[in-house]
Amino acid sequence: VSGLMKGKRGVILGVANNRSIAWGIAKACQAQGAEIALTYQGDALKKRVEPLAAELGAELLGHCDVTDPATIDAVFDRLKEKWGKIDFVVHAIAFSDKNELEGRYVDTSAENFSKSMLISCYSLTAIAQRAEKLMTEGGSIVTLSYYGAEKWMPNYNVMGVAKAALEASVRYLAADLGAKGIRVNAISAGPIKTLAFAGIADSRYLLKYNEVNAPLRKNVSIDEVGQSSMYFLSDLSSGVTGEVHHVDAGYHVLGTKVPDAPDI
Ligand code: NAD
Repeated sequence: VSGLMKGKRGVILGVANNRSIAWGIAKACQAQGAEIALTYQGDALKKRVEPLAAELGAELLGHCDVTDPATIDAVFDRLKEKWGKIDFVVHAIAFSDKNELEGRYVDTSAENFSKSMLISCYSLTAIAQRAEKLMTEGGSIVTLSYYGAEKWMPNYNVMGVAKAALEASVRYLAADLGAKGIRVNAISAGPIKTLAFAGIADSRYLLKYNEVNAPLRKNVSIDEVGQSSMYFLSDLSSGVTGEVHHVDAGYHVLGTKVPDAPDI
């Protein structure tokens, strides 16, 4: 399949390096003919994202930290200047203090709870507010979630709660923006070794557990998430909104371990 994204322009937020899920999605968008723009968070990531943007011929819009609304405005102002309208947005952003991605959820601090919710959940709504103004001919917004939104996962803690709220936001945003032809969906990706994922205690165990137990007996790659995102970002899914779609090698169907899984 080729050319699914031809004629479409959009922004992808959340590339930190070439292991980021957002990078897998960016590569797929470019391969399918989209024109893309990227942002980075802070100078430390700028030097990683700059060469990646160049590799795809993507616009680099500059620094965006979702805790600073002026930087979100600046990104959308630049998009307006450059393209006038946009067709898609990818939100691949999450954060929690690492110290609270271990042990018990019950010990979560109010401060980290608020910060995690602001960055990992509210930012989708903040971005949708700006995107709505530029999606004058409809559009598609995709965010990234994880199974820890639906079920308890060890050490995922406040992120699980933030992802549950993020998935609820997808439904509310879908209802609000649907009349304008703007669709909002989430991909619930299986565990992938990224910078963010490495912040979760015992993440290697989780990866291995998924790999041996998932129905497909593997972990998914950022390229597989990228390919699945093409459905949501292109017109193939013009009748779909408010959905949370699992790209997790089937892990979410399990009630318990598969019988042939080795001990890990
Ligand atoms: P990553 O570390 O590559 O990306 C996380 C991104 O969030 C980074 O680019 C970082 O700059 C950005 N970010 C954090 N705080 C920010 C802020 N205040 N303002 C702007 N950007 C900020 O890791 P990833 O795993 O690719 O994460 C992307 C998304 O995928 C996240 O929402 C994550 O929860 C989700 N996800 C990851 C996995 C996994 O196993 N890796 C599974 C399911 C869902």
